Formats: sequence, structure tokens, C-alpha cells
Amino acid sequence: MHDKVQEAMSRLEQGLEQLLSEDAWKRYLRCQARFHTYSFQNTLLISLQRPEATRIAGFQTWKTMGRHVRKGEQGIMILAPLLAKTSETTPERSLVGFRTVYVFDVSQTEGKPLPEVSVPRLEGDAAIWPRLRDACPYPITETPDLHGANGCFHGVQQSISLLQSLEEQHKAKTLIHEWAHGLLHAAPDSERVEASEIQELEAESVAFVVSDALGLDTSSYSFGYIAHWAGKDTNEHLKRSGGRIQKAAHRILQSLQPMSSSQAS
Ligand SMILES: [Zn+2]
Repeated sequence: MHDKVQEAMSRLEQGLEQLLSEDAWKRYLRCQARFHTYSFQNTLLISLQRPEATRIAGFQTWKTMGRHVRKGEQGIMILAPLLAKTSETTPERSLVGFRTVYVFDVSQTEGKPLPEVSVPRLEGDAAIWPRLRDACPYPITETPDLHGANGCFHGVQQSISLLQSLEEQHKAKTLIHEWAHGLLHAAPDSERVEASEIQELEAESVAFVVSDALGLDTSSYSFGYIAHWAGKDTNEHLKRSGGRIQKAAHRILQSLQPMSSSQAS
């Protein structure tokens, strides 16, 4: 099994490198990098004022992307930190308050279309689905609606939700993804908190590696998913997380081994 994990890791590295060299992905990631990641507080403010918002940017940022805010559109108010020098002795600026700024959702703008890439869902049966489901240490619930997601790991309950309508191939891959979140990011004793883009890169990499070792190729979905989250620095992030990805992949593959007589009850 160890060799298979190693092989899958290098296939993942090479596949991502190739994907990131494609023009469509280069354009997509360049565009994505211009969108700011908003704080929790601002995300909340945005969703209160415009629940259907998808892509948010300021007036000038939209202009740099060849789009403009339509006349009469009302801005979404968010808070920007106000920094000022508070001491004569140090050059550092510290937070003295907030000011309100206005941003706009893509639906309030018009102009050049934003670059898009497609990440299709996996289709078909997967022989490994029942095996994974039975070996998973976390309780699994299948639900008809997960607010647009395919799966979710609940940290407090230590359980997994999966979208009922997924085909078995995609369900199998998603289960490994959520299982990996459980091992790497939601263990009750884990201290390190990774940024969400790193968490997604790690979970989907584990999903690719474990699926690959079990004979299921998820590259058509996994590579795009990882690149979407980790952006243009995907390969550096992947190198840094490599050890953690392999460790989690080994743990999941080990749980799938047939029980030895000493473990059987
Ligand atoms: Zn995830």
C-alpha cells in the first residue's frame, strides 16, 4: 500500500502542475486572485444585505476586470480597518477603528465575462463505496440538501453528511474527503488550525490519493477542486502538506484492510 500512496502522490503533483499550466486555468486563477477574502464579520454583513451574492469586489476592482457597476446599484456595506500611528516612538500603525466601505456583487455589474473553468461531477458506480461506508469510523447521514455542498464534516458531533443524490463514484470520493477533514482538521485534540484553502487542498488530496490506491481515478474532479481552492501557489502548498496528506491516506487505507484474527471479536 505504501508504494501505491507514493505513486498517487507524484501523479497528483504532476497532474496539478499540468493543470496550472493550461491557459484557461491561468486566466481563471489570475482573476480569482483579485477577489479579496473577507473576514467572518464582513461575510456576515454581505450575506445579510445580499444573501444571493456570489462574487464581491469594490468599484475599482470590478473596473480592472473589464466590468462596471450598473448605474443605480446600491452598494453592500462592509467594514474596513482604520489604521493609524499611535506612538511617537514606533513606526507601526495600529487598529484605531473601522470605516464603512461599499462593495458590489457580480450580479450588479456588467461587462467582460469572468473566466470560468468546469469541474464536472464524477459519475457511475464505485465498488469501493460500500467498503468505505462500512469502514468509516464516523457516523454517516445522507441528506437531500447540503446548501450546495456535496459533503460536510461536523466537528462537534464528529459525524459526516453526504449529499444523497451523488452517484456512487462521487459519494465514495466525498466520503474520503470528509473523513480526511475529520482526521486532519476536526480531531478533538488538534491544536493547529489551517486556513480553509489549505484544509480543502489537504482533504481533496487525500481523497485523490486513497481513491487512486483503490483503483478509482478522481483526477477530473480533484485537480480542479484543489487548484480552485489553493490558487496559483498550489504546488508549494502541496509540498508543505505532503506528509500530512500521506499520513491521513495511510490511516484510511489501513481501516479498509480486512480485520486480522487478533482484532476480530
Ligand atoms: Zn472540504
